[in-house]
Amino acid sequence: MRLRINQLNVRLNYGESDVLKAVCRKLRCGKEQLSNLEILRRSLDARKKDRQPTYILSVEVDHRGKPPRIVPNQVEKAPPPSPAPAYPKITPSENPPIIIGAGPAGLMAALTLAEAGHKPLLIERGAETPEREAQVSDYWKNGNLNPESNVLYGEGGAGLFSDGKLTARSKDRARIRRFFETLVACGATSDILIDSMPHIGTDDLTQIIPVIRKRIWELGGAFAFNSKLEKLHIENGAVRGVTVSGKEIRTDAVFLATGHSARDVYELLAEAGVPLEAKPFAVGVRLEIPQTDINVAQYGKWAELPALGSASFRLTRKEEEHARRCYSFCMCPGGEVISCASSEGLITSNGMSLSARAEPFGNAAMLVPVDVADFPMAGNPALAGIEFQKRMERAAFASGGGNYGLPAARLIDFLERKKGDLPEARSCQQAAPALLQDLLPEFVSHTLESALPKMLGELNRTPLEHALLYASETRSSSPVRILRDRNGESGIKGLYPCGEGAGYAGGIVSSALDGMKLAEEYALR
Ligand SMILES: Cc1cc2nc3c(=O)[nH]c(=O)nc-3n(C[C@H](O)[C@H](O)[C@H](O)COP(=O)(O)OP(=O)(O)OC[C@H]3O[C@@H](n4cnc5c(N)ncnc54)[C@H](O)[C@@H]3O)c2cc1C
Repeated sequence: MRLRINQLNVRLNYGESDVLKAVCRKLRCGKEQLSNLEILRRSLDARKKDRQPTYILSVEVDHRGKPPRIVPNQVEKAPPPSPAPAYPKITPSENPPIIIGAGPAGLMAALTLAEAGHKPLLIERGAETPEREAQVSDYWKNGNLNPESNVLYGEGGAGLFSDGKLTARSKDRARIRRFFETLVACGATSDILIDSMPHIGTDDLTQIIPVIRKRIWELGGAFAFNSKLEKLHIENGAVRGVTVSGKEIRTDAVFLATGHSARDVYELLAEAGVPLEAKPFAVGVRLEIPQTDINVAQYGKWAELPALGSASFRLTRKEEEHARRCYSFCMCPGGEVISCASSEGLITSNGMSLSARAEPFGNAAMLVPVDVADFPMAGNPALAGIEFQKRMERAAFASGGGNYGLPAARLIDFLERKKGDLPEARSCQQAAPALLQDLLPEFVSHTLESALPKMLGELNRTPLEHALLYASETRSSSPVRILRDRNGESGIKGLYPCGEGAGYAGGIVSSALDGMKLAEEYALR
């Protein structure tokens, strides 16, 4: 009988024999009764500060002999594995499906279509990974922005230069597993298959993404980099083609996976009559604190154990009388704060890390929700949130010195509403001192002034003097939703908006899953 066993406690540097022993203890059986042990999930338990942290495992194992007692949530019969979708046999069409955007959503949509026997064509305005890396390095070193290929645009999408966190709120375990297995088959560490907070890091992502491209290509897919969607051709309520960098291509299916930084795409959709609506989002600042403070807060006296690595945090503050809700987002342990831009004169902050997460600072966005009622509905109301973001990004660009440096301030200066100096020791040298309240909407400044000291107080009283803020964090999620029906189409037959830019996903995993789901929908028609 195959069993699933949860809540197995093992030491940090566990080996297979430790896991077997723990299973035998739980089942009260001998190890000769067990075979085919597989670890399904691993999470760190550092809740008790007086006890060395341990791992809690969920495993599956074949058990012979008298069946053990079933204890719900502890020892259960293993559920049967979920089958992969079976696609109908198809003859690839003369006008193949087109995917716009090579971020997680577009790449996984293309791979899913290719696995189902289609020959998708993937169009990406930015460059392939190696060329893009050189362009991004020139931007960070010299402030030379390429508006078509940058930290936000290019193969791998917005998450290529990221922490590569693979956490998701989705309960769609089967697709998450298929996505992670793809990443592992393309070079990611197999730890992501079991870790409760999996991550990859920029150094690994830049190796893995080109292998995914190769896989799609081997299955018959094709790519056009440095090629931009300029127009959608719609006839009688159905997609008939696209114009890409001046060239018209016929197709009946377009998967629009352009992310939420491609504001020109929303404009071309609005012009084409595709239904759009404004949606709530969030803005704020990027907080940076020494990683040792975070490690001590989370691991106490065990903070220096090498097996623990860099700790992360999640902080939230409820709405108060004169302050909105505030929460940490996209925490990057042992990482760097980075400047991001995809058009001249506008910047936003974000964070990234390498797979080792070994840099001396940790950072996270500290966000305040923005509701549609917060922005004036001038022009096209569906796009009003973009104007709100742009105002903040323009102000940040000017205040950062006009060369894509980020405006920044020590937290203690921010709290006194003054412009001071910046500490030498910080992760982002591309930064200039600023009075951040000049760059943020008043309700955001006010909320952060009230919430941040309390939140750092909860993080083991991290000294406020240790904290640095960079502005402004504006692109944590899409301010626009492209409406879709039950089939995933946008009201225009054959137009499948997917990923973060469509407004139904946020983050690498949920965007990838959304791309897979819509591609399956199309392949199973
Ligand atoms: C610096 C940074 C760090 C991040 N860290 C994490 C993290 O650790 N974990 C996490 O889950 N999420 C992270 N995110 C968010 C995550 O990257 C996004 O949620 C995810 O990439 C969205 O995927 P997507 O495929 O929908 O869109 P995107 O990744 O934005 O991809 C869209 C692609 O479409 C292309 N495109 C746009 N317009 C056109 C056009 N007209 N023609 C052709 N191509 C076009 C773009 O060039 C881009 O490559 C991070 C984001 C950033 C910016």
